Amino acid sequence: MIAPDLQTAIDRLSSLIGEAERIVPFTGAGISTECGIPDFRSPGGLWTKNQPIPFDAFMARRDMRDEAWRRRFAIEETFARARPGRGHRALAALYRAGKVPAVVTQNIDNLHQASGVAPDDVVELHGNTTYATCLACDRRYEVPWVKEQFDAQDAHAPDCSCGGFIKTATVSFGQAMPVDEMRRAEALTKSCDLFLVVGSSLVVWPAAGFPLMAKRNGAALVIVNRDPTEFDDIADLVVRADIGEVFAPFIPA
Ligand SMILES: [Zn+2]
Repeated sequence: MIAPDLQTAIDRLSSLIGEAERIVPFTGAGISTECGIPDFRSPGGLWTKNQPIPFDAFMARRDMRDEAWRRRFAIEETFARARPGRGHRALAALYRAGKVPAVVTQNIDNLHQASGVAPDDVVELHGNTTYATCLACDRRYEVPWVKEQFDAQDAHAPDCSCGGFIKTATVSFGQAMPVDEMRRAEALTKSCDLFLVVGSSLVVWPAAGFPLMAKRNGAALVIVNRDPTEFDDIADLVVRADIGEVFAPFIPA
């Protein structure tokens, strides 16, 4: 059913959450827009202005690595300033209450961790842009450190001491999906009794596969998203409203 108004949506969501024992949230860009993080895929978003740098170009060309870092530094203030929104806080409350074992997210903004979900319980399908890693030895680097080196080296990205390339811990176009995260996301999806989509249009692979997987395993499906999705027809509840407003009543006082 598509909720006809906000109050009906909240009442229905409240009873579905109350009945559920194991809720797996699946979140996308829409949960972070009220935190000032732009939806990179939306019209006018960053990716429509700048062609994304594919992974093989990043690996092959130093100028592409420099450009990738230049773009990353340009959005640093946005990410550094962002704080969890009402959706994040409501999900963190359900997590603390023991109803949510882990959150699966397409977001790279670290806001679920910032809202109090343990890092190990955030399954990041597209990685995390708030830190970097060496692609060869996996050593972690912080963005401000990379920026310092970049500035000191005449706008060239630093390499790891092992010789490997340092890249934000995100999954780029053309880069393999993280195997462990995919496996965990599947296991969570198959083990829940309520699959709760928040702010994802479910179009980007592999997002599109999860709602069906959850339904096939007998879970209820709720989709809270501003725009219609391809899976609205099979959902038990569809809410097309502002995510912050929908989840505000679920944040404990
Ligand atoms: Zn290294």
